[in-house]
Amino acid sequence: MFRTHTNGELSLKNLNEKVTLSGWVQTIRDKGFMVWIDLRDRYGITQLVFDAERTSAEILEQAKKLGREFVIQAEGTVIERASKNPKIPTGEIEILVEKLTILNSAELPPFTIEDETDGGEELRMKYRYLDIRRNPVKEKLIFRHKMAQKVRNYLSDKGFIEVETPVLIKSTPEGARDFVVPSRMNQGQFYALPQSPQTFKQLLMVGGMDRYFQIVKCFRDEDLRADRQPEFTQIDCEMAFVEQEDVLNIFEGLTAHLLKDITGNEFGKFPRMTFDEAMKTYGNDKPDIRFGMKFVEVDELVKGKDFKIFDEAELVVGINVEGCADYTRKQIDELIDWVKRPQIGASGMVWVKFQNDGVITSSVNKFYNEEDLKKIAEKFGAKEGDLILLMSGNSNKVRPQLSALRMELGNRLGLRKGNEFAPLWVIDFPLLEWDEETGRFYAMHHPFTSPKPEDIPLLETDPGKVRANAYDMVLNGNEIGGGSVRIFNKELQSRMFDMLGFSKEEAEAQFGFLMNAFKYGAPPHAGLAFGFDRLVAILDGNEVIRDYIAFPKNNSGRDVMIDAPSPIHNEQLEELALKINL
Ligand code: ASP
Repeated sequence: MFRTHTNGELSLKNLNEKVTLSGWVQTIRDKGFMVWIDLRDRYGITQLVFDAERTSAEILEQAKKLGREFVIQAEGTVIERASKNPKIPTGEIEILVEKLTILNSAELPPFTIEDETDGGEELRMKYRYLDIRRNPVKEKLIFRHKMAQKVRNYLSDKGFIEVETPVLIKSTPEGARDFVVPSRMNQGQFYALPQSPQTFKQLLMVGGMDRYFQIVKCFRDEDLRADRQPEFTQIDCEMAFVEQEDVLNIFEGLTAHLLKDITGNEFGKFPRMTFDEAMKTYGNDKPDIRFGMKFVEVDELVKGKDFKIFDEAELVVGINVEGCADYTRKQIDELIDWVKRPQIGASGMVWVKFQNDGVITSSVNKFYNEEDLKKIAEKFGAKEGDLILLMSGNSNKVRPQLSALRMELGNRLGLRKGNEFAPLWVIDFPLLEWDEETGRFYAMHHPFTSPKPEDIPLLETDPGKVRANAYDMVLNGNEIGGGSVRIFNKELQSRMFDMLGFSKEEAEAQFGFLMNAFKYGAPPHAGLAFGFDRLVAILDGNEVIRDYIAFPKNNSGRDVMIDAPSPIHNEQLEELALKINL
């Protein structure tokens, strides 16, 4: 037997018991006549004491030879500590070691395996298995496990069945590039890895499964950011004989259940906001509603005063940054530079200060007198001490720019607190999105999303205005899930493919199987998917999803630990009938 207890378990209750522990050597304190070792495993740390007087000289010598991260087994007696450590559960006891076995020696690790480590990100990724020994990483993986368990239990209790869908499939149109896998048995042909199990879950509804879920890996070959990984996990769901309202209720329930578990609070009904309202008020379809700075449009107050930039703009819109009128010239200039960076791309910004002495002044005093500025301040509901920031331009450009500024200020002013949660639904998304570059419409969600029945006539006359029965769940400024009511009628689905520019042949080749299934009695159905990695990160008060994935990829999509992707042997290429053309 390697151990009678874990390293997080023993306390004064176990006094004088003979125990055996196993684990890693975290630290060694050698005082010459005595040696103390912190022994670590997943469950905690237990202090071992080696003492020639109380046991043997030999054991003390053995202990002195141990190094950090050696894997050892120690047998001994639980004794009370002279100097107790109230910070850890085992802090009142230690083990007087009588027998020591080295199970494995270890090379000096490339970084210290402590909560605060000296290892940089790349180094820790390379030795991820060592990083996982550290509490901050270990705890995140355990948290993820707990959330997965809760999700499974909740959905099972509601009658959902977990069904696995294949990983070697055909392209699914979720708007990203596919990862592809060449087929040896069908040379020149490729599987695609699923961007999501979308078509399969719809087929499960045709198959009568009624309520499906799966915690499932999805693959999208996209440029990476901190909150994106090429392979990620979804909680994927689909329901038959439901309307949008049914789906919203179930998944609002699931989210509230997880939030209650974490915060202890009831979350009640989640607010709902239409896409249009979200764009107008927050410049963003995933608004962080934990803080204000709502957009206020001021066109009618600022136009016609000879300020050309505003006169020529399609939209003049701003935010009120409460309590920031004391920002210095330098601070404001820095913010202006921030919005002018190419990532944001604004051409400038106008400020209006409602000073603490009641005077209202601005960077455009030449064009606007005190009375004009007062009206602007009133429109924002600004009070003494507030700072108004205004931006202008084309509405589809200026809204995201101001939204980025709002989020940045939210961060800088500490308004985006990790332990505060503000979920909401964003609904009534447009069905289609116009792409200037290719001069055609794309499905905003995916091509299986149903238009709102009352908007179907607009498909002919004004397709950009058609709203979809599509919804996103937003938490703290992040889209954590999204879905839609599906088209379940063959004719409408085929019309949709037409709108999206698929020829009959292309639609048949890519989605013939689904259209075919719709011939055999498809029930009305709807569903959604949550991004599980992101959900877990946010629930844990964090936004970096990589921290919650055991073996993540870096920003260039590499696994630096196993060194993938990597070239393959010529024989493998030959079997697949592939030539590398580099
Ligand atoms: N398959 C969709 C996605 O991955 C979710 C859904 O519509 O259910 O975003």
